[in-house]
Amino acid sequence: MLNFSFTDEQEYFRNMLQDFAKKELLPNYTKWDREEITPRHLWRKLGELGINGLRIPVEYGGSGADCVTTGIAAEEIGRGDFNLTYAVMLNALIGEIITNHANEELKQEWLPKISSGEKIVGIAITEPSAGTDAGGIQTTAVHKGNEYILNGEKSGISVATVGDAFIIFAKTNPELGNRGISAFIVPADLSGVECRGYEDMGNIPIGRGSIYLSDVAVPEENLIGLENKGFAQVMNGFDLSRLLIGLQCVGAAFQSLDETIDHVKARHSFGKPLATYQGVSFPIVTHYTQLELVKWQAYRGLWLRDQGLKHSKESASVKWLGPKYSVEAIHECLLLNGHYAYTKELPLEQRLRDVIGLEIGDGTAQANQMVIAKDIIGKEYRSY
Ligand SMILES: Cc1cc2nc3c(=O)[nH]c(=O)nc-3n(C[C@H](O)[C@H](O)[C@H](O)COP(=O)(O)OP(=O)(O)OC[C@H]3O[C@@H](n4cnc5c(N)ncnc54)[C@H](O)[C@@H]3O)c2cc1C
Repeated sequence: MLNFSFTDEQEYFRNMLQDFAKKELLPNYTKWDREEITPRHLWRKLGELGINGLRIPVEYGGSGADCVTTGIAAEEIGRGDFNLTYAVMLNALIGEIITNHANEELKQEWLPKISSGEKIVGIAITEPSAGTDAGGIQTTAVHKGNEYILNGEKSGISVATVGDAFIIFAKTNPELGNRGISAFIVPADLSGVECRGYEDMGNIPIGRGSIYLSDVAVPEENLIGLENKGFAQVMNGFDLSRLLIGLQCVGAAFQSLDETIDHVKARHSFGKPLATYQGVSFPIVTHYTQLELVKWQAYRGLWLRDQGLKHSKESASVKWLGPKYSVEAIHECLLLNGHYAYTKELPLEQRLRDVIGLEIGDGTAQANQMVIAKDIIGKEYRSY
């Protein structure tokens, strides 16, 4: 049986979040960008609503929700405040990694605080010389006594300036390439950790930046899962975060379309509402259609994940086209709103800047196309 409907519980959750996003997030969306603030009180508010812990089991303070429900949160929060969708996506990714791979002490220490929004945790893979080619990282972790000593530099990391801890990927066996990478929870206040922010084009409240690691002594209990298995552990998590990113971008783009539809009905040219001209309505229809296609591919991918079925290529397709179609839609909305939309009075210019970031973050178009090619053409035809 093919069934595209959400459960009553999921519909209730969507309605609750729609209301919350409209009343409590949307009015202040541009404020945090202008003031360059990470609204930690809203991370805590999302904690109260159970959003941070959607992919964290109930016994660790989470909501224990399925992936489809997590997708609803990404989409609806994306309508209100695109930057707060990081709380959905990052926490889902990190929540799953800690839940599935970390030891009991780490789970008890971090999961309840992530769920409540008390602590913000980032994930640090990218380095100055290794982004798409994540297996090429150079940060090292050397096992000495009951500690690992970390040295290296992470770049482009979300929440670098505000994170309380980071899941850091480092080479424990440099000869083994991506089979020699391990993951560690590294509190930001450990000696030898230094975080510096960037002057980014968008996603300002996310505090992206670099993390410098100089002889950081990390207790061996902070190793997540098995030594040298860090890469495999996180790759599976990306299949989730990429689907969520697609939905958070689509949410921001749908909100822009709704605002634009209101505008073109109210605004007149040559004696008629703009909406009566096909030069105005057809672009709106085009973007609406593209966004709907990505949205349903995203929910399909999340459903496949909930069923324990393969979904890497679906996830990659959503991560490739979700941000791309959303950027195109928001750009068009900005133009259809005329010159006021080019000012900071309207949220459209910020949405455009914010969403572009996720055309890069978590894997570029090409990185995702490589995933799809590997699946449908065959891994023996990989270029790497
Ligand atoms: C908003 C944002 C948030 C981010 N958050 C995080 C985070 O929290 N943690 C983290 O670890 N990283 C994060 N990143 C970094 C991000 O994951 C990397 O920027 C991304 O993986 C690309 O790596 P790169 O920037 O080094 O580009 P490169 O890998 O140098 O690629 C440059 C260009 O070349 C293309 N390219 C590379 N290799 C190939 C190939 N083989 N075939 C075809 N084209 C290719 C790429 O698609 C891209 O267009 C974030 C980035 C942004 C913008």
